[in-house]
Amino acid sequence: MNKEELWQAALARLQFNVSRANFAAWFKEAVILDWQDDLVSIGTPNSFSKEWLEKKHHQDILKALNEVCSEIKKIKYVVSKQQKTNIESRPPVAPETKQIQFEEFQLNPRTGLNNRYTFKDFIVASFNEMAFAAAEAVVQEPGRAYNPLFIYGGVGLGKTHLLQAIGNKLDEEDEIKIKYISADKLVSQIVSSIYERSIESLKKEFQRLDVLIVDDIQFVAGKEKTQEEFFHVFNALYEKNSQIILSSDRLPSAIPALEKRLRSRFEGGMVVDISRPDYESRRAILETKIKEWKADVDPEALDYIATNIQNNVRELEGALRRLIAHQNMKKKKLNLESARKVLRDLTRTQTKTASPQKIISSVAAFYDLDLKELTSETRKKDIAFPRQIAMYLLRKDLKKSYLSIGNLFGGRDHTTVIYACNKIEEEVSKDGRLTDEISMIRQRIYGE
Ligand code: ADP
Ligand code: MG
Repeated sequence: MNKEELWQAALARLQFNVSRANFAAWFKEAVILDWQDDLVSIGTPNSFSKEWLEKKHHQDILKALNEVCSEIKKIKYVVSKQQKTNIESRPPVAPETKQIQFEEFQLNPRTGLNNRYTFKDFIVASFNEMAFAAAEAVVQEPGRAYNPLFIYGGVGLGKTHLLQAIGNKLDEEDEIKIKYISADKLVSQIVSSIYERSIESLKKEFQRLDVLIVDDIQFVAGKEKTQEEFFHVFNALYEKNSQIILSSDRLPSAIPALEKRLRSRFEGGMVVDISRPDYESRRAILETKIKEWKADVDPEALDYIATNIQNNVRELEGALRRLIAHQNMKKKKLNLESARKVLRDLTRTQTKTASPQKIISSVAAFYDLDLKELTSETRKKDIAFPRQIAMYLLRKDLKKSYLSIGNLFGGRDHTTVIYACNKIEEEVSKDGRLTDEISMIRQRIYGE
C-alpha cells in the first residue's frame, strides 16, 4: 500500500465520523506527504486547516489510519504548498474508459470553469427540462431573468454540468467577469481569509463579479461565519444586477442550519429541480451518448442498461462506458447475454440492501447531524424529526421490528417507534417535498 492508498482508505473511514460539511472543508484538501513506519506526515493547504485537523480531529485521524495500518502510531501535521490541485476539476476516469477518445479538458484559472461542460453536450429530457429552460433564460438575460437561479437535485443528475455550461456560455462574451466555485472551497477560502485578515479584499473580489456560481451550496450548512460574509456578497451582487447561480442537493428549506435571511434570499429567485430520469429519459441519454462516442451497441443491451441503471446520469454513463470498453477489447459487439455479465456487479449494487448503520449514517449526513446526536435522547425538533425519518426507513426498507429499531436509538420504547413510522408515513402522503427528501436520502443509501 502506498501513501495515497493509505489516505484514501483512511478517508473512507473518516467520512462516517465527521460531519459531511467538515469532511469536505478539511479532509479533502489534505494529503499524506510522507509515511515512514509508525509516522505519517499530513500536509494541509494553510495553517488554519492544519490547526483545525490537529486540534479537533487528531484522534479521529489517528484511529482511522491505525485501523488501516496498525503500525501507525504518530502523526505530524505540516503546512505544505505542494498540495494536489482540486480533485473535482477533473473527474476520475476508470481504467476501462481509457479506450474511448476524450478531448483534453481544461480548467480556466481565471473563472474556475472547466470547458468540458457545455450546453452542446447537455442532454435535455423530461427530468431536467425545467432546469434547462431556466438556465437558458439566464444565459439570454443574465441578472434579469431569474436571480438567483437555484437548481437542486440528487447526485450525478447534472447540476454541476448545467451550472458550468451556463458559465462557459456567458464567458464567451468579453466583458463579463465570472467565477465558479464549489461551496466547500468557498467555505475554506472565507475561513482562511478571516484567519489571515484578508476577508475584506476577498469580499471585494467577489463583489466585482457579474456572475457568481456556487455549486453544492448545502455545504455552508452550519458555517455561521461563512454565511454571514456570503450574505453581504450576495446582497452587493444582487443590488447591481449581477447574476447569482446556486446548486444544492436539496431545497433551501431542507438545508439544515441555514440562516433564515439566506434561505429567503435563495428562495427569492427561481428554484427548479432536476429529478431522477425516467425510463424514456434514460434511453434518450444512452442513445445520445452512443452517437457522441460513435459507438455501436446492441439495442437489447442498451435497453438492459436503461432498465436496470436507474439512479442518475453518471451511473448510466459509467455502465455504457464499461460496455463499450469490453466491446473494444473483444473487438465485437456484445449481445444481451454478455452485456448482462459485464454489467452484473453494477446492477447488483442497484438492488443491494442497506445495513441499519448505513441508513442511520446516511440520514445523519443528510441533515448534517452527528451520529451521536441522532441516536441521543434529545427531543429538539431539528433532531427528533430526522430521527423519525431514520426509524421510518429502517421499518420500511429493512422490515426491522419496532423493538429492534427502538434499541438502535438508545432503547426507546416500541410505541415511540410506531408513532414515528405512522407520522412520517402520513406526512409523506401529504407533502411532496418530504417525498423528495426521502428519495434523496435513499439515493445516498443505495446509490453511492
Ligand atoms: P451533479 O453535479 O448533479 O452531481 P454532474 O453534473 O457532475 O452531476 O453530472 C454527472 C455526470 O453526468 C457528468 O459526467 C455529466 O457530464 C453527466 N451528465 C449529467 N447530466 C447530463 C445531461 N443532461 N447530459 C449529458 N451529460 C450529463
Ligand atoms: Mg455536482
